[in-house]
Amino acid sequence: MANCSICGRPAIYVNPVNNKAYCRNHFIEYFEKKVKKTIRKYRMLDKNEHIIVAVSGGKDSIALLHVLHKLSRKMPGWRVTAVLVDEGIKGYREKTVENLVAYAAKNKVDYHIVSFKEYIGASLDEIVEKGRARGLPYLPCSYCGVFRRYVLNKAARRLGGTVIATAHNLDDVIQTFLMNIVSNSVDKIYKLTPVISDEEGGFIKRIKPFYTVLEKESALYALLNGLIEPEYVQCPYAEYNIRFTIRKLINELEDKHPGVKYGLLNSLISLTQEKQTRDTVNKKQVCKICGEPSSHPVCRACLYRYELGLTTSEEADRITELIRENPVLKKYVYLKQSS
Ligand code: SF4
Ligand code: ZN
Repeated sequence: MANCSICGRPAIYVNPVNNKAYCRNHFIEYFEKKVKKTIRKYRMLDKNEHIIVAVSGGKDSIALLHVLHKLSRKMPGWRVTAVLVDEGIKGYREKTVENLVAYAAKNKVDYHIVSFKEYIGASLDEIVEKGRARGLPYLPCSYCGVFRRYVLNKAARRLGGTVIATAHNLDDVIQTFLMNIVSNSVDKIYKLTPVISDEEGGFIKRIKPFYTVLEKESALYALLNGLIEPEYVQCPYAEYNIRFTIRKLINELEDKHPGVKYGLLNSLISLTQEKQTRDTVNKKQVCKICGEPSSHPVCRACLYRYELGLTTSEEADRITELIRENPVLKKYVYLKQSS
């Protein structure tokens, strides 16, 4: 391996874009500067913020918590609280919860654990069971993503958060970009921006401080700071997710043609910026059932709850009525409305 381009000590990382090499200390400095630059460039944070860091307990989210906690010590107006959404996945979530609890105790960080059970009325394992029993065509990750966003937004509001920071890195973002192309979900592509502001519609502003950070960079940062979990546990539902195949394909492409990842990110940025200039404000409405922000009269989480039989009978009647009044909702509901 080369020597550090700054101090000449043995390097541990070489930036694939400009071939600059970094030793341990200069890598940490490079990484934190990159995150700070992203925060500044996309105006992610103001002087006074209560930052809710969405933590899964995995290496990326603990690395994000670590950076923001470190930065907050120099910013008196910033307060950082970690929130972990426990979906209720047996044999998986317990381990990552331990990682957060250990990190928080060691670094004196406030944290809260909220669950699907508490906010939705069923764990993900129960939801998957119910969905299968009802013949619903959705994959576990579809419920998981929708409900996790929903629970996080509600919990963050309850805690008085002003902004939600998630650990989506460059790799995550471009994987989602390709997944949305594959499934012809063009609208979702436009949401893959570094900042999603929608205070008007009830969503707390969401930011991705790792937007320009490669997965291997955040992993290395976690490793060098002793944040990485000793054993990697994979979610049992991961095998159903096309993301993992796409991830493998992009990594193979990057190995053969370095720069592909940044190329995909830049294409995404061009696309989303173009769209933003076309319609500056993305008008949102509020779900008529739960009051959470939604692009339709009933939000995706409430439609899933309806299909899974997790709504009250009054809610179910109201949703049936709303589906009748708004035929566009039929597109999102698999079951016949009478069931
Ligand atoms: Fe949720 Fe799917 Fe991730 Fe498992 S793999 S935590 S089900 S999104
Ligand atoms: Zn709703």
